[in-house]
Amino acid sequence: MYPANFDYQKAASVDDALKAMSENPDLKIIAGGHSLLPAMKLRLAQPPALLDIFNLEELKGISEDGDFYVVGAMTTHADVMRSHLPLFPEVAGWVGDPMVRNRGTIGGSLAHADPSADYPAAALATGAEFVIRGMGGERTVGADEMFLGMFESAVEAGELLTHIRIPKGISSSVYEKYRHPASHYAIVGVAMARHADGQIRAAYTGAAEKAARLPKLEERLNAGQDVGTGLVEGADLLGDRFASADFRAHLVDVLSDRAAKRLG
Ligand SMILES: Cc1cc2nc3c(=O)[nH]c(=O)nc-3n(C[C@H](O)[C@H](O)[C@H](O)COP(=O)(O)OP(=O)(O)OC[C@H]3O[C@@H](n4cnc5c(N)ncnc54)[C@H](O)[C@@H]3O)c2cc1C
Repeated sequence: MYPANFDYQKAASVDDALKAMSENPDLKIIAGGHSLLPAMKLRLAQPPALLDIFNLEELKGISEDGDFYVVGAMTTHADVMRSHLPLFPEVAGWVGDPMVRNRGTIGGSLAHADPSADYPAAALATGAEFVIRGMGGERTVGADEMFLGMFESAVEAGELLTHIRIPKGISSSVYEKYRHPASHYAIVGVAMARHADGQIRAAYTGAAEKAARLPKLEERLNAGQDVGTGLVEGADLLGDRFASADFRAHLVDVLSDRAAKRLG
């Protein structure tokens, strides 16, 4: 299948990209293209013009800044997988297949906020922060404020997610996933991280319209109790021909139990 016709241009820098978007609101950023292009081929998205940011070196790689690891938005899943970051390498290893991991980017995935994507659960469990730049300047958004709804993140039109800041001091972390047999996206994924203060944060993805924390689970684990069941009781869960809402709720319980056992 072919997408509808579109114009194409490459950004030379972040500033150049922001200027181009402010001059032409029709411009749509393309990073790794592994969510946008499939959507364009299915005509679910028909942007008239693409702005390619894949080659922006200033947005690639991992560095350190005080108590944080700083990951460039254009760092590929494969590079995340090979890194020393907490939790994210394990999660990246679950994303798609080698072709997707070699081209898709962490920033593209997190800005896109696909309800079945893996990284949002990791971002919530690690308490990551998002550095977002627009023509008006830079702002930082916490993980709890990043995922607003289905395919809706805090990154607004005309803005770029430039970096993801992941706190240091996480002593252990795990990701458990039940994946779709064809696409490999998460039917349910559960991420868990033990932070420097000893507290555990946990989050799930795939089961609802957006990834979210698991407060009941966190409360139980931090009180030294068992994982138990009914972790997402009352939540509005997704159901489709691969997994009903009830099955997804059951998977959240089962995967949380496995994750807690591995976390130790
Ligand atoms: C076969 C297949 C299997 C997959 N399996 C999985 C899976 O198991 N788990 C999973 O999590 N994902 C999966 N994916 C999705 C993959 O991880 C994508 O790479 C990712 O979701 C999007 O990243 P990208 O760099 O490809 O972004 P693109 O597709 O280029 O962009 C996605 C969207 O984000 C916007 N965007 C991109 N970068 C930025 C930025 N820096 N700032 C602001 N907006 C931006 C774009 O405008 C676009 O709207 C799969 C994809 C395919 C094709």
